[in-house]
Amino acid sequence: MKNLAVALERRREAHLYRSRRQVSCAQSPELQVDGRTLLGFCSNDYLGLAAHPEVIAALQRGAGQYGAGSGAAHLVIGHSTAHHALEEELADFTGRPRALLFSTGYMANIGILSALLGRGDTLFEDRLNHASLIDGGILSRARLKRYPHADVARLATQLANAQGEKLIVTDGIFSMDGDIAPLTALASTARAQDAWLMVDDAHGLGVLGAEGGGCLSHLGLSQDEVPILMGTLGKAFGTFGAFVAGSEALIETLIQQARSYIYTTALPPAVAEATRASLKLVRKEGWRRERLQQLVQRFRNGARQLGLPLMDSTTPIQPLLAGSAKQALAWSQQLEKQGILVTAIRPPTVPEEGARLRITLSAAHQDEHIDQLLDGLKKCMQIPT
Ligand SMILES: *Cc1c(COP(=O)(O)O)cnc(C)c1O
Repeated sequence: MKNLAVALERRREAHLYRSRRQVSCAQSPELQVDGRTLLGFCSNDYLGLAAHPEVIAALQRGAGQYGAGSGAAHLVIGHSTAHHALEEELADFTGRPRALLFSTGYMANIGILSALLGRGDTLFEDRLNHASLIDGGILSRARLKRYPHADVARLATQLANAQGEKLIVTDGIFSMDGDIAPLTALASTARAQDAWLMVDDAHGLGVLGAEGGGCLSHLGLSQDEVPILMGTLGKAFGTFGAFVAGSEALIETLIQQARSYIYTTALPPAVAEATRASLKLVRKEGWRRERLQQLVQRFRNGARQLGLPLMDSTTPIQPLLAGSAKQALAWSQQLEKQGILVTAIRPPTVPEEGARLRITLSAAHQDEHIDQLLDGLKKCMQIPT
């Protein structure tokens, strides 16, 4: 067996070693981390719902009624009235006939892709898709073709030469870059080439579109154009879990065939109750989305004035490109000295020389928090590279 300690040491020398921190409070801009108070810009709790009193109360009521665990997989006896009601509400939210809950987004993606595709089929993925989509593609045994980021023309060429069933899958908002996929062009290419289109809208749902309907609602795309919509519940919804929304036949196929749906314990019913409460807030409290947009503008204006290496993003994911892992780490450490927490994202999460600070904003941030961050970043730019 290879020497694990030596491999770990190499990783450390390459500035790629990762470690965990201990957080001892609920999600909030101000976090208790390893015994210090830090101002955080790395949570995906975009709307500030993870610690909302109504969401917490629903979780508590749910635990009182259903207990802590679901007891079994959905197809055994784990499927509760709470799960079922949430699925119906998610179907209504997305304007689709049905929705199906999965325990996590990672499991949803590997389950969907491996249920719908097999040997002889071809899967097309944007090069910057989330790791769970890549892993699902490998597990499906289909031929995996990765096209250059957002390059629809290249995708069209690849499609023209493909075999079997064809499925295109893309992040809606790219998780490490914050840009929105060219979904309108992808949908017309998919139609022209008789391919399925699936969108993983983990970062768009709740954040974009009327009532938080996500990238598809933002761009006016229908179920005909994007038959498979996947979303996660641990980000803007502030809870945990994931879902797929689509036709009756799609959902029934996944119930019969998605192994990461069938062979795993259903998420706790109390979590489904909490998500029902957060879904109501997501839909009705449009001010949270407006507030988030104001903060994005405030950050970008300030960052532009400072000449920071902004990326082309209008969403709450606002990365600053560092290039080397060493540089990204140095910035992150400099910020932490000033009481600000922003994680350095390094390969293999992002491409080589694509290391960055991944700054995420939340409707719970105050204007002063953004100003503090900009101040901190100004100091980072003064450290020699
Ligand atoms: C977070 C994320 C996932 C995984 O969802 P989990 O519920 O955290 O497992 C999948 N896809 C994208 C694009 C994500 O950002």
